[in-house]
Amino acid sequence: MIETSLADRLRRLIASAGPIPVSLYMAEANAAYYGTRDPLGRDFITAPEVSQMFGELVGLWIADLWSRAGAPPVRYVELGPGRGTLAADAARAMRAAALAPPVHFVETSPTLRAAQAERVPGATWHDRFADIPGDEPLLVVANEFFDALPIRQFVRGRAAWHERLVTIEGERFLPAAGPSVPDAAIPESLRGADEGSVLEVAPMAAAVIGDIADAIAARGGAALVFDYGHVRTGLGDTLQAVAANRYADPWVAPGDQDLTAHVDFQALGDAARRERVSLFGPTTQGAWLSEMGIDVRTEALSRAAPGRSPEIASARDRLVSPRQMGALFKAMAFVAEGWPQPAGF
Ligand code: SAH
Repeated sequence: MIETSLADRLRRLIASAGPIPVSLYMAEANAAYYGTRDPLGRDFITAPEVSQMFGELVGLWIADLWSRAGAPPVRYVELGPGRGTLAADAARAMRAAALAPPVHFVETSPTLRAAQAERVPGATWHDRFADIPGDEPLLVVANEFFDALPIRQFVRGRAAWHERLVTIEGERFLPAAGPSVPDAAIPESLRGADEGSVLEVAPMAAAVIGDIADAIAARGGAALVFDYGHVRTGLGDTLQAVAANRYADPWVAPGDQDLTAHVDFQALGDAARRERVSLFGPTTQGAWLSEMGIDVRTEALSRAAPGRSPEIASARDRLVSPRQMGALFKAMAFVAEGWPQPAGF
């Protein structure tokens, strides 16, 4: 693995100014990582890349909700669209239901923006969700976006909780306990955890979800979020690195591997709770896809291409089976007041 200059930059920063928060390390690493490559299929694979059925069922979910809401003018927004595969598959399913909304992508990577432009010509790109124009209702989708946003880690010491920092020992990066944090930073039920326990919080993810919920409360619409993670806030170090389809050490080669953390759906749901927004889920990805009719779609695709039938069945299993992506991945939605109840939950 060839190290990017990011590792050297971070070493110099730490050597001169002292250890940095895990969140800064993760933010810098992922900006460099995604900024310079298309990792999908090479470093890791995601649900929309496993099968067209994933994006199609998302498109169906949107079209169904939109038509029951009275078919108003809307905009489609996707955060972290990767190669644009989900959006392209969803657009096909939406078109079949006479819905062809303008497409807005929130994406910071120039490399991935180019890949998205090939699959979804006519999309508009934004650096931040808050930049989406207009006042029409929004239909917002994100798959494996929130897991890539920077987390903070707190580690329980003998007498207090400490922010976890990243320091260096020679050339090596390693985590170390930093200054203590006030008790108020830690949920009450977890404050007395054993020494060495790790608690993660995702302030960026909460801020982005809060922005989406505010926009939906004000403009109408809905959001549908998929990610891997847990339903309740809990303890544990979930920061992980992936490169070439393998788990790797997150403290090695920042910028050359994908850094993610489990999404805390309880915290995400709390950040979305607004007066004029209703929350649905989280449920498992497997349950959501089954409820949306993935088995019917599997059969239809297999009938249309009998030679591909084993491949289609195995993609379905990969998305739905609890032993594969079906249980670890969750689906959660929120919908504006006055909008119908969404399918799948
Ligand atoms: N949703 C796609 C890709 C998931 S990978 C799929 O399911 O295949 C994560 C995506 O989020 C990439 O497109 C990456 O460039 C984007 N991303 C990561 N951090 C981001 C940030 N801070 N702002 C905007 N996009 C980001």
